[in-house]
Amino acid sequence: MTHNAFISRQQAAPTGSGKLDGISVAVKDNISTAGIETTCGSAMLEGYVPPYDATVIERIKEAGGTVTGKTNMDEFGMGTTTETSAFGPTENPNAPGRVPGGSSGGSAAAVASGDVRIALGSDTGGSIRCPAAYCGVYGLKPTYGRVSRYGLVAYANSLEQIGPMAADIEGLATLFEVICGRDTRDATTVDPPEAVSDSSTVTGELDSPTIGIPTELLEGVDEPVATAFDEAMTHLEAVGATVTEVSLPALEVAVQAYYVIAMCEASSNLARYDGVRYGHAGDETGDWNSVFADRRSVGFGEEVKRRILLGTFALSAGYQERYYKQAQDARRWLIASFDALFDEVDLLASPTMPTEPFPLGETIDDPMRLYKADRNTVPVNLANLPAISVPTESPRGLPVGIQLIAPAFSEDQLIRVASTF
Ligand code: GLN
Repeated sequence: MTHNAFISRQQAAPTGSGKLDGISVAVKDNISTAGIETTCGSAMLEGYVPPYDATVIERIKEAGGTVTGKTNMDEFGMGTTTETSAFGPTENPNAPGRVPGGSSGGSAAAVASGDVRIALGSDTGGSIRCPAAYCGVYGLKPTYGRVSRYGLVAYANSLEQIGPMAADIEGLATLFEVICGRDTRDATTVDPPEAVSDSSTVTGELDSPTIGIPTELLEGVDEPVATAFDEAMTHLEAVGATVTEVSLPALEVAVQAYYVIAMCEASSNLARYDGVRYGHAGDETGDWNSVFADRRSVGFGEEVKRRILLGTFALSAGYQERYYKQAQDARRWLIASFDALFDEVDLLASPTMPTEPFPLGETIDDPMRLYKADRNTVPVNLANLPAISVPTESPRGLPVGIQLIAPAFSEDQLIRVASTF
């Protein structure tokens, strides 16, 4: 059965032995793999073969893992359904005819179909948690700085992290443990203040945490998702958690702030695809400016072009104060609000996505609808926090996710709570 989860099935062998002995890992196609084509789901990078491994790939191979292929994704990570890929959409193995979520939809589908037990995704505004939720698997977006981004092709570098996706919580914890940690080649990586997470935190038990539900993240959530979320909260109470409603008014500006910041960073990061150093080069002729424009209009898809144009506009003279600076102010407000809330509660919970997985093709021409669907996931990236999506089901049996958010560097807490489901 094929769901178009992979862009290529080239393999890379282990270089060492350890926690991943005998285990295959599917890798999102925006993570550099030495000698294996890395396209970011874009015609712009078709045929590009990186000369080096990302740090996470090096660590996986040293731990005995085999790279088993590169997975489909929204072009450069820009999307929520994996339908903006230049290589066609991926189908959701657990919800036929529906999207797998995005942008790491190929990795989620590779896990959900049983092809692999664990996979790597990247999450700029929900791209690990959304496809995890839609495909019925686990997905962890680590604290910013916890996992090296060396070798991750940049979309919006102040927001994104590489993270694990898995069929079971043990697999997720093991892959996280292998890839996390400081890296001298990524100056934004940091050592956590205390002990790092390891698989032994998968105990299935809780030490009675207080879990806050931000009421803002329940607004606009579809009925079947709300029902599944309520059941999950009832479960957490039954295993010893205290669940309470909280409010975080700054959440109201998160989507707007996210899309301004993400598009501004994208417009700058994607400037390197000029067909000279990187990117598609055809037989365009003329002066430099027209060749450059032709190459970029052929190489990039619609959504990527839209974001480069909007990001360039928002950064242009006269508009920077109005858009970029305001978005940065909103981001600071959100960070301070989360900080204050974590004085009162240990964790936060919400539905990962406000809807069940969309039917294939339904939202592709409606970018605003897709941007709004990211409302529960983007606040976590703006605040640099860790969050996990735990799989559950809507009443009619479609996969939906429960999102748990923790203070920075508390991935072990997320893994422990997730292991009680
Ligand atoms: N859907 C969001 C976006 O399109 C998040 C994508 C991601 O996390 N890479 O920007």
